[in-house]
Amino acid sequence: MKRISHWIDGRVVPGTSGREGPVFNPALGEQTAVVDLASAVEVDAAMAGATAAFPGWRATSLAKRAEILFNLYGLIDGNRKEIAALITAEHGKVLSDAAGEVARGLENVEFACGVPHLLKGGYSEQAATAVDVYSILQPLGVVAGITPFNFPAMVPMWMFSSAIACGNTFVLKPSEKDPSPSLLLADLWKQAGLPDGVFSVVQGDKEAVDRILVHPDIAAVSFVGSTPIARHVYETGTRHGKRVQALGGAKNHMVVLPDADIDMAADAAVSAGYGSAGERCMAISVAVAVGGVGDRLVDAITARIPHVKVGAGDDPSSEMGPLVTSQHRDKVLSYLDDDSLGGARIVIDGRETAPEGDGFFLGATLVDDVRPGTRVYDEEIFGPVLSVVRVDSYDDAIRLVNDNPYGNGVAIFTRDGGAARRFQYDAQVGMVGVNVPIPVPVAYYSFGGWKASLFGDTHMYGPEGIHFYTRTKVVTSRWPDPSMSTVDLGFPQNR
Ligand code: NAD
Repeated sequence: MKRISHWIDGRVVPGTSGREGPVFNPALGEQTAVVDLASAVEVDAAMAGATAAFPGWRATSLAKRAEILFNLYGLIDGNRKEIAALITAEHGKVLSDAAGEVARGLENVEFACGVPHLLKGGYSEQAATAVDVYSILQPLGVVAGITPFNFPAMVPMWMFSSAIACGNTFVLKPSEKDPSPSLLLADLWKQAGLPDGVFSVVQGDKEAVDRILVHPDIAAVSFVGSTPIARHVYETGTRHGKRVQALGGAKNHMVVLPDADIDMAADAAVSAGYGSAGERCMAISVAVAVGGVGDRLVDAITARIPHVKVGAGDDPSSEMGPLVTSQHRDKVLSYLDDDSLGGARIVIDGRETAPEGDGFFLGATLVDDVRPGTRVYDEEIFGPVLSVVRVDSYDDAIRLVNDNPYGNGVAIFTRDGGAARRFQYDAQVGMVGVNVPIPVPVAYYSFGGWKASLFGDTHMYGPEGIHFYTRTKVVTSRWPDPSMSTVDLGFPQNR
């Protein structure tokens, strides 16, 4: 059986811990590989390589770093299909969606190609007489990234593009559920000319994460995953003196006002609710029908669901693939029991439409008359289950959104520009879409939620990513000018 190992010092390195885990093809429900799971020894080996590589990489000119990033861009671009195929084989999402993931990740590499411009500091000439003051951005050292199963290529690209461009060395701990794309990306970095040790991959689970969080030589940790683990990573990492950004889970609402184009809103709800089988942190999981629009919206969504083709991700006709593991499917199914529904009504039951066989499938599921205080509303489901909550007014809708503990993404569907503007002002959420159901920011903005969707204060990638992966130093400088030299025992003043 295929074995998936670590990438340390520019090559594949087998695990030594004796710990391993299964990797499945979710469409077949079959184990296809074994992944080595690191213990502290392997994390420390990757750290040793990353620490040794840091001084040389930090000293590498911006021009050379940009050249390597351009090379990486070309290589990922040329290997889109290969990366997408690995994602589909282990995650299950359909190939077109996996290709979309690669494309969005590649935007972050493209952004980082501009690193010479991004690392410009400020300069104030003559801050005091003959004194100049300037700021410079310096890398942190070795930084680590811990990533979730649902974007095994894009989320690592969110992190490592900027981290490495800024002069840091980077240790990636991908999800143990779909570890292969990270190794292909490592190989492409090497082909791009990245020196060994600058990028490493340590495969593993909690044990590897817990070593990363206390390792004395790791300066910063970027994490994306569920909220309980994000909180643990943030609290443990910061307690050990690290800079941490930890993005957590989500419960994204889509508010549909009575004036909205209902067909457009229904298309968006189906696309954003069931794309990638709902395993996206920006998936729409709650449609909020305002002021009597509920019946029309539910009818329009119901009419569309039978046309969503569910099947294996590598079948080009499939639009929605399986869930990632059988355990995760069981968890998603648990939200459809009577206790979890709390009186809500299943309109379309994906258990009845899932393809036959051993794959971890669940068909698109629609639940109407959902209320806060029930498990199906309160918890992140992370599956193809779309809830409809009916409310009377805009005020009720915004209260619902803002009372939710999560604050990752939200969308409003309306033709009223004033209502949309008020919504963007009112929403206690980090990323807002106006007639856009999945408002993932472009790479030159930054990605991140509010409230329980983010621990730390820096969003990921874009300008905030550069900020996270650098620290500022301010230099106050005077060059000796014999014509101006005097003895002056007073406190230095600038005027
Ligand atoms: P997860 O929290 O289970 O795992 C994330 C990472 O943490 C993995 O690398 C995993 O190996 C590690 N991990 C798991 N359990 C751990 C533990 N007890 N201690 C230390 N490390 C542990 O998340 P997942 O299931 O891989 O991904 C889905 C979750 O990620 C969802 O909640 C989703 O909303 C969230 N997510 C958020 C964003 C965002 O940008 N906010 C993006 C993608 C996914």
